[in-house]
Amino acid sequence: MACAKRLTELGMVVEVFDKARGPGGRMTSKRTTHGYLDLGAQYFTAREPRFIKQVQHWQQQGVVAPWLAPVWQYQQGKLQPSPDSQYRFIGVPAMHSPVKQLAMGLNVQYQWQLTKLQYDAAGWWLTDSQARQLGPFSAVVLSIPPAQAAAMLPAELAASLPTASLTPCWAVNIELVAPSGVPAGGIFVKDPALPVSWLSRQNSKPGRMHSESWLVHFTPAFSQQHLEQDDSFWQQSAVTCLAQILSADISSKSILCHRWRYAQINPASQATATQALSQGLWLAGDWTKGGRVENAWLSGIDIAEQLTYG
Ligand code: NAD
Repeated sequence: MACAKRLTELGMVVEVFDKARGPGGRMTSKRTTHGYLDLGAQYFTAREPRFIKQVQHWQQQGVVAPWLAPVWQYQQGKLQPSPDSQYRFIGVPAMHSPVKQLAMGLNVQYQWQLTKLQYDAAGWWLTDSQARQLGPFSAVVLSIPPAQAAAMLPAELAASLPTASLTPCWAVNIELVAPSGVPAGGIFVKDPALPVSWLSRQNSKPGRMHSESWLVHFTPAFSQQHLEQDDSFWQQSAVTCLAQILSADISSKSILCHRWRYAQINPASQATATQALSQGLWLAGDWTKGGRVENAWLSGIDIAEQLTYG
């Protein structure tokens, strides 16, 4: 969406297609009857000057706020505060709110799944899941996981994509019957004996679920190993881990599971820098620069500028 907005600012005519019902991808929050729930990105940081400026702008527009809840750590069997000076931000009221803001005024088609991309002398032609053909377009920017991009490209282009560059992440949200008494907002889990990497208390964030709810992110290795297990496996695993980390009996009001097939960068796979794959075909996304929200935004901006100025 950052790419589409920047291209529009630079005078290009842009159309955006997204198979989802709304904007945000891994920044999408799920709407529940008790408030939003962040199943994907939990927060973001801003280090690059252009992104810092963008975040300040979003704050002025009221779609981003700092997340000031205390950060804790679980290591060697101990749960304790792990304070730092890092500013962390969240979208408000939902993680996708800043993406929605970027999309305002753009020509975006949701629930429009593209299945095939072809190139001829006239330009790029897109085919969707209902066999409709769109085009020609002078350039196409794909901001989807490389494995999904490969599935829609001609074989000679697909072969060069780093399809294993993103690893899966199972996410489980546990809404507790009674408060745990643990005041942490987020917990970095650094215990190799546990299959979990991160916990965050959703009710420490404005706009999210009101009652105490813990979102559990499983490690890439464990998520991959048990990728096809059903929800009951993940519910049980999440409750066991949460009980151990919080040192509490866990009684849940509700549990929700979500599988992200493509979530975090695989350290074993070499990320490809922002790139033009072939005539007018570009790949964008956090995975091209390192898996953070800031990098997703920067990759979009960089491509828009390279595409326009060459
Ligand atoms: P950041 O600086 O807050 O965190 C980067 C890493 O530093 C953390 O993963 C953690 O290991 C460590 N860390 C930071 N503060 C800490 C503290 N107070 N105590 C203990 N450890 C601490 O944020 P960032 O660099 O902007 O990265 C964003 C986060 O998003 C990363 O942790 C990244 O792994 C994560 N991410 C997760 C997924 C997923 O699917 N779960 C996908 C993409 C990115």
